[in-house]
Amino acid sequence: MLNSKLKNIIENLPKTAGVYLFWDNKEPIYIGKAINIKDRVKNHFFQPTYKDDLYIKKVSKIGFIETRSEIEALILEASLIKKHQPKFNSVWRDDKNYFYVAITQGERPIAFVTHQKKDTKTQYIGPFTEGNALKKTLKFLRKIFPFYTTTKHPKNNCTWCHLELCPGPNPDLQEYKKNIKKLTLILQGKRKTVLYALKKEMADVSGQNKFEEAMQIRDKISALEQVMSHANVIENKKHQYDNWETTQRILQEILQTKNPISKIECYDISNIQGTLAVASMVVFLNGKPDKNQYKKFRIKMENKPNDIAMLSEVLVRRLAHPEWGYPQVMLIDGGIAQLNIGIKTLRQAQGKAKNDPELKKIKIISIAKGKREILIEGQKQHIPLKSLPREIYNLIVHLDDEAHRFAITYHKKLRKKTLLT
Ligand SMILES: [Zn+2]
Repeated sequence: MLNSKLKNIIENLPKTAGVYLFWDNKEPIYIGKAINIKDRVKNHFFQPTYKDDLYIKKVSKIGFIETRSEIEALILEASLIKKHQPKFNSVWRDDKNYFYVAITQGERPIAFVTHQKKDTKTQYIGPFTEGNALKKTLKFLRKIFPFYTTTKHPKNNCTWCHLELCPGPNPDLQEYKKNIKKLTLILQGKRKTVLYALKKEMADVSGQNKFEEAMQIRDKISALEQVMSHANVIENKKHQYDNWETTQRILQEILQTKNPISKIECYDISNIQGTLAVASMVVFLNGKPDKNQYKKFRIKMENKPNDIAMLSEVLVRRLAHPEWGYPQVMLIDGGIAQLNIGIKTLRQAQGKAKNDPELKKIKIISIAKGKREILIEGQKQHIPLKSLPREIYNLIVHLDDEAHRFAITYHKKLRKKTLLT
């Protein structure tokens, strides 16, 4: 349970955008950003995902830094992760899941978003945790500091030129480089340095009676202030896979099936030394949790803390309920042993109900969290989680989180009941 000190800290967190840091004594172990710091931190503690469960008990202190906007939170998070390299930020994320802004050197630097830091001559700013938010941020900043995204520019104006996002075919290269420098500083969280420099430039040019230039700089300053304090870029986590059609199509390809996928079930078994073992079944319809269909199972076998047998029991019991409607995908927790027992149980059920076409469509997938890979019925190749398309990765992690959370809640309820009787 949470100690009263932490509870107190959480209660007093601000409900504004910003970055929060979880400390294990003197070591920052997790850094995150939020649109609403208090709500986001509460989620970590009161609706923990299994990722949270890895470290949440170690948290002894919570720090936070409020920002004026989501863009500032995104940038601050990146610079703090770079500085502290917290252990538990990288549990599920390796280089491939982080994003960097690459800025090349040379006469005409270009800027672009990338996963990899492979060129020693290029400067990489990051790591940023959210690609879409980063791209939106760059788009806002590009209006203020136009930049190239490719090395060769056509002789005449390009599409970006017309949108005023490109410096044009023949810019003053020295000015251009200055702009790039400012963009770099902004992305590194040094907004104040940039504003200071701009104000100084403005004073200089108006001192030389170049009022038009001074006005252009003034416009730049106000545009920058505007973007940095108002632009909303962080995605609300709830809408990550709104586009179910795309996700479904990719999932069909991965599972090598032509059957449309609308219903997915995910199972989690929670037990403490085999006593009071419970399992949870969560159901996602078109990519979204359908809580009305969730089921809990109290494992019936006694004194046998055996994961495989428990999984088999749960699947046998579930498959005996055609009236719940069968899913097209069953996601279970574990490696090859769990996958095999899942397949065996499914085949037995299919054998018993020979004419049920819905039962025949079920595909089983297991997620081996230790090895960070998924195993798919009928496919020899294990698929590393990091190589999954983002939509599928998010979906699987969400399913697994949800099943785990639901099992833990049920387990706690049961334990309380047992303690009372
Ligand atoms: Zn152009």
